[in-house]
Amino acid sequence: MGYKLLAKQEIGKLYEKLAKQYEVYAPIKKGIEVNWSKIEDLGDILFDFKNSSLSPKGLFFPQTEVMFEFKNDPKAEEGYILKEVPPLPKTRVLLNIRPCDAKAFSILDKVFMRDEDSLDVYWKDKRDKTVLIGLACNNPCNTCFCTEVNSSPFGEDGLDVLMVDLGDKLILKGITDRGNSLIEDFEEAESSVASKIDDLKKSAESKIKTKLSMGNILSREMLEVYEHSYWDRLHESCINCGACTFYCPTCHCFDIQDETKGEYGRRVRNWDTCMSWLFTHHASGHNPRGTKKHRVRQRFMHKFKYMPFKLDGDIGCVGCGRCIQVCPVNIDVRDVVNNMNK
Ligand code: SF4
Ligand code: SF4
Repeated sequence: MGYKLLAKQEIGKLYEKLAKQYEVYAPIKKGIEVNWSKIEDLGDILFDFKNSSLSPKGLFFPQTEVMFEFKNDPKAEEGYILKEVPPLPKTRVLLNIRPCDAKAFSILDKVFMRDEDSLDVYWKDKRDKTVLIGLACNNPCNTCFCTEVNSSPFGEDGLDVLMVDLGDKLILKGITDRGNSLIEDFEEAESSVASKIDDLKKSAESKIKTKLSMGNILSREMLEVYEHSYWDRLHESCINCGACTFYCPTCHCFDIQDETKGEYGRRVRNWDTCMSWLFTHHASGHNPRGTKKHRVRQRFMHKFKYMPFKLDGDIGCVGCGRCIQVCPVNIDVRDVVNNMNK
């Protein structure tokens, strides 16, 4: 299918169509921040924004998620009664997701849905029931570097539809069958838009000035990178606050706990962070990542060495730049990667 055209003043047509079938989520302004929210009013949806403060990963992997509930009952066959959490009641659409955040979901699919045995049913249910309509970035932030981690401000990975903002109109490109069927009723765009989009893409990519080198990290032996003296210095300024991990669209550590009250209980999983000392603290008292050096090294080794090794070359970073913006001590992942590579 070719490109479709939608005048900006007719955006209501798209919204109405989506709202009939889906719960619509989009970035909206909340105070000084832009964040994802369920949309009740078309006027709240932002089209002119850099990126959301928090990534939309919480819509698939919530900060706190009940996995199931239970009631202890000595009369029951197993001694307890289990109550499963119902699946998502309605399908959803995420409108105006940035290409980096959509790519992050493709990477996390390989973590949460690697094979039948390790399939994460909570993640899968939400992924199956969510359509992703992306909005290309004409003006990336100065902290963005998606082009350096196998993507682009106009990247299509993980998306069902990619929209490109041409000022007074949007061009819609269907990427999956699901996406194509959503936009099939819209007006065909002239074939000349393809070259306009190409020019906009080149212009957006040229605004990203960061250059990353990763050849050595990827080709050198695991232990050679792991044991390098660089890690003895890097960790010193880090305060292990974990902000970088909570804001990161690809970080996915979690902890599972049972919360009980009387005979009732629920199993909950919460976001956790490799920056926390407790995260790897064993019941025996031993902690394999007992020092700050171990924890800081883990974050970068995981993203740029272990993940590509395990996930067919996929890097655990999509270049969104959020960790650079939030780190209180200015640790910059771009410098870390280039130094690791050196
Ligand atoms: S945000 Fe900065 S200080 Fe906080 S844990 Fe991450 S690297 Fe360390
Ligand atoms: S490591 Fe930093 S730049 Fe990379 S995806 Fe995570 S938050 Fe974004």
